[in-house]
Amino acid sequence: MGEFIRITRRQALKLLAGAAALLGLGPGSPLASQDAMTGKNRSMAAPQKTTPGPRRGTQLVSVRPCRTYDDAEVHAAVSSALRAIDFTPRRGQRVLLKPNIMAQNTPEQAASTHPAVAGALCRIFTEAGCTVSIGDSSAFYQGGCTREGLETTGMTAVAEQYGASLLPFETTTLRRITTKRYLNPLYITEAVFAHDLVVNLPKLKVHRLARYSGAVKNIYGCVVGGTKQLYHIQYQDRPDYKEFWGRPLVDVYEAVDPGLTVMDAVVGLDEDGPAATGTPRQTGLILASRSAPALDVVACRIIGFDPRWVPAVREAMDRGHTSLERAAALSSIPLPSVPYRRLPDDPPATGIMRSLDHYVFDRIIVQPSISRSRCTRCGDCVEKCAAGAISITRGGYPSVDLEACIRCYCCAEYCTAGAVSMSGGVINHLIRAVRRIKRI
Ligand code: SF4
Ligand code: SF4
Repeated sequence: MGEFIRITRRQALKLLAGAAALLGLGPGSPLASQDAMTGKNRSMAAPQKTTPGPRRGTQLVSVRPCRTYDDAEVHAAVSSALRAIDFTPRRGQRVLLKPNIMAQNTPEQAASTHPAVAGALCRIFTEAGCTVSIGDSSAFYQGGCTREGLETTGMTAVAEQYGASLLPFETTTLRRITTKRYLNPLYITEAVFAHDLVVNLPKLKVHRLARYSGAVKNIYGCVVGGTKQLYHIQYQDRPDYKEFWGRPLVDVYEAVDPGLTVMDAVVGLDEDGPAATGTPRQTGLILASRSAPALDVVACRIIGFDPRWVPAVREAMDRGHTSLERAAALSSIPLPSVPYRRLPDDPPATGIMRSLDHYVFDRIIVQPSISRSRCTRCGDCVEKCAAGAISITRGGYPSVDLEACIRCYCCAEYCTAGAVSMSGGVINHLIRAVRRIKRI
């Protein structure tokens, strides 16, 4: 009975309105509403009247079956999931969809959000009179790699179909934020603030470092270019690095504060994620919630992971964003159990292995350098560098202070003269070459 108290009055009325369907107990029946942690069906007694409160509403997670990526099926599942949590788009809203564009993968590899899910959201928002952008910054940077990832994952085609804008975050300006937490200062894309609503579109994945990659983790892509790796380097020597890393992830989640999360769990990524080295896993679900942490709690439960075992989810709970008790699944089917593999933890790197870690990381990160022969001395890069790392030297040419540079690589994208190139990053180049050949 206690779980019913978390159902808003409007949802309670919907439950009553669906009384005929309740008797049928078929798919789509709201009767199958389940508790997130116990997995048991809730009592079917008439819900108590409650005072709707935003806190309660945000903790609801709708779970809908979706067996394939057929556009019509995905659209129906996403629409149903949004109705269940009483989400309605507002006309005129500027909406930013943030899928998971891990790398230059194809949809079949299940390492990125499927375009059918982004397409369903584009359709829902554009039909409601909203303008839509699709943006991300992929995991490892080389010039144009996010744009390429948007293309290979099918997002470019979706954007064209619905008249949405594509926003590789390296082409945006950055905002510097003081978090008073772990990533301080924190730089994230200004695109987050230039839109009225950020819609988080994670892919359900096992993650070698984060253990599980879901809603909170997906928001880390709002950190742009190689700044993602710089933040890792800042903490990678901690003996508790794996457990600790959830804290910076929640810093970024709090700064972005997505208003809606819709998870692609139709085919998840099991085994050796988060890249395409993992194994696609038919899971057959779409999840939606206003609370990314609550959605993660429910998703963890479905795949058999203790939410507190996942550092980012545990940290989000410890900061009060959700809890095992408050995150409540509204499932139109009995809440499924699709156990994913819990990867064994790698032992913390010490001695030579730690030095090797540093060596590899240093060579993943490329650094900007400016060609005087190409530079037109327009000064755009100076103005737009959020870290203030570019200054004008004698002769009017810009110069990069690599100590101050946060490796966001925005200057390379801003410079229309093509005067900014990336040097170093031997391993980065190697990874990209292998990925291009093997498409991993
Ligand atoms: S934006 Fe390009 S062309 Fe303009 S000053 Fe910077 S490097 Fe030179
Ligand atoms: S110089 Fe500025 S814009 Fe360019 S990568 Fe460094 S921090 Fe980013």
